[in-house]
Amino acid sequence: MIIIVKSNPDQQQLENLISWLRSMELEIHRSDGMDATVIGLVGDTSEVDADLIASLDIVESVKRVTEPYKKANRKFHPDDTVVDVSGIKLGGGHFQIIAGPCSVESREQICFVASEVRDGGATFLRGGAFKPRTSPYAFQGMRDEGIQLLVEAKKQSGLPIVTEIMDASHLHLFEDVDVIQVGARNMQNFELLKELGAAPQPILLKRGLSNTLEELLMSAEYIMARGNKNIILCERGIRTFETATRNTLDLSAVPLLKSMSHLPVVVDPSHATGIHALVKPMSLAAVAAGADGLMIEVHNDPPRALCDGAQSLTPNYFKTLVQDVMKVKNALI
Ligand code: PEP
Ligand code: MN
Repeated sequence: MIIIVKSNPDQQQLENLISWLRSMELEIHRSDGMDATVIGLVGDTSEVDADLIASLDIVESVKRVTEPYKKANRKFHPDDTVVDVSGIKLGGGHFQIIAGPCSVESREQICFVASEVRDGGATFLRGGAFKPRTSPYAFQGMRDEGIQLLVEAKKQSGLPIVTEIMDASHLHLFEDVDVIQVGARNMQNFELLKELGAAPQPILLKRGLSNTLEELLMSAEYIMARGNKNIILCERGIRTFETATRNTLDLSAVPLLKSMSHLPVVVDPSHATGIHALVKPMSLAAVAAGADGLMIEVHNDPPRALCDGAQSLTPNYFKTLVQDVMKVKNALI
């Protein structure tokens, strides 16, 4: 249920209303937006008398929120959430580019790619240390050592780092990681999501291979229910009957998610297409669709990459991509 408060309400009456609602053992979520104050109620609201609340002087209207996601719902929080990573803001008009290799392969590789993508316009460095591979015989990532190398690359390049967690028991290894990624395969690993709800870092939550937008928002809700409000949603393609691309990039997800939720949305055209030649056109389309950021795989030597070489860009090509992306961004302003 949401209560929309009239502008410039009597503060004492507002406090009284909030403490009365709290006494009903409801969780109160107050959002003081640009246009209105919205009070969101989470919990069993079946006994709450909406007509009585609507009759109060300070109340504009009362609405039942029928969607199962509450804290992630745009109705609870009308303004865009801006995720702030050491001063780098993402969402609410702040656009960022996350780039780097699929996997950390060596100190030289990650440090080289970090400085290249930074010079090309990236504002975050990505790199997998724990890799979710379909085959147990494929390269599984450098694990703890991979995270240490990412931290070194962060010190050298100045770029904050984004890397994937696969198991909550690894959380202690992520202390110096700026944004923790939940990969598509773990989007509904609910125990992991609960643990990340208590983590201090923002979470980049990727859409599952066969998940609906509502399911993605319910996964965000799991993290938010435990207190972590800093979530970045990521559209990375879904499974369809089409085999010409690795997945099918669902770009309608971008404006839809942004109308359903206040959380920022980034697009990963690399995993969505699996084909390097499609990464630039899909990046431009994602920006035109309103994405708050892009996540792009860049490798020093794509043909020799240990993982996802076919979709990886060279650093030089990445630079041209960023230039074109900025042209589209500027054309939208
Ligand atoms: C990744 O970003 O490294 C990755 C494995 O992506 P996804 O979870 O989208 O497949
Ligand atoms: Mn990859």
